[in-house]
Amino acid sequence: MSIQKLAVIGAGTMGNGIAQVCALAGINVTLIDISDEALAKGLSALTANLDRQLRKETITAAEKQGALARISLSTDYAALNGAELVIEAATENLELKKRILKRIDDTVSDDCVIATNTSSLSITELAAVVNHPARFIGLHFFNPVPMMALLEVIRGLQTSDTTHALALKLADHIGKSAVTARNSPGFVVNRILCPMINEAIFVLQEGLANAKDIDTGMQLGCNHPIGPLALADLIGLDTMLAIMESFHDGFNDPKYRPAQLLKEMVAAGYLGRKSGRGFHVYT
Ligand code: NAD
Repeated sequence: MSIQKLAVIGAGTMGNGIAQVCALAGINVTLIDISDEALAKGLSALTANLDRQLRKETITAAEKQGALARISLSTDYAALNGAELVIEAATENLELKKRILKRIDDTVSDDCVIATNTSSLSITELAAVVNHPARFIGLHFFNPVPMMALLEVIRGLQTSDTTHALALKLADHIGKSAVTARNSPGFVVNRILCPMINEAIFVLQEGLANAKDIDTGMQLGCNHPIGPLALADLIGLDTMLAIMESFHDGFNDPKYRPAQLLKEMVAAGYLGRKSGRGFHVYT
């Protein structure tokens, strides 16, 4: 793999997982967030994940130490200097992502590839923010990043074949299987998955069954490894809401309207696992 230095913007659920898999694959990673607290939280989640892998003997103690040594933390975008690839994995908000991409673009060299881990926003629209948009691409990792085998690679209208080839090479290097999708709200996997989760929330809202039974029904009846409401809690209900809103806006089709209960849960601060309470309670 030719990439030696990579940066990840956002040390949250996805950002710290992306940093972990890339560092384990031998790449030097700079992890950037807005505060020292956010970085400390990200590093602690990442370290706990490495410890879990160590206990399961999927990595050695030396590999864990090596990965940690390759990760540096910063709240300063100047730390992007010299990066060959930057992966934006900050909060799912179009205006915020555009501001972040502008800052990345102002800092990195013209040949640095810029990627976003957005779940639902337009790769073409985000690419338009940067100079040389041919070097922009969607790299959609799945949660939890160290466990999930897929990397969905999304080409915007401007993405070059060279950028696409580099994304496929990265996927291979970090042990992920890539599928390529054309730009469209939710791409392929979330286009199918998120309306199903939203429907499960409608089912709960209508009182057809309780959360536990809805999840058990889909696990045992459809052989899903995790129920849709537990999966929503894992994704984060704020992220789920942002995804459904961007489908609703992007397709202008009422079939994608977010369930009222999802909006209420987010308004109440019940964001799923990350806040300790969502459709289920986490201690
Ligand atoms: P999160 O809320 O866990 O983390 C977001 C992080 O971004 C926070 O640490 C926040 O402090 C940071 N951030 C906000 N503004 C920033 C800025 N200006 N500069 C640097 N960092 C900033 O969110 P997440 O679940 O990790 O989602 C991140 C991205 O990944 C979103 O685009 C989301 O749609 C996408 N995604 C999420 C999942 C999932 O299951 N959660 C799966 C695939 C893709």
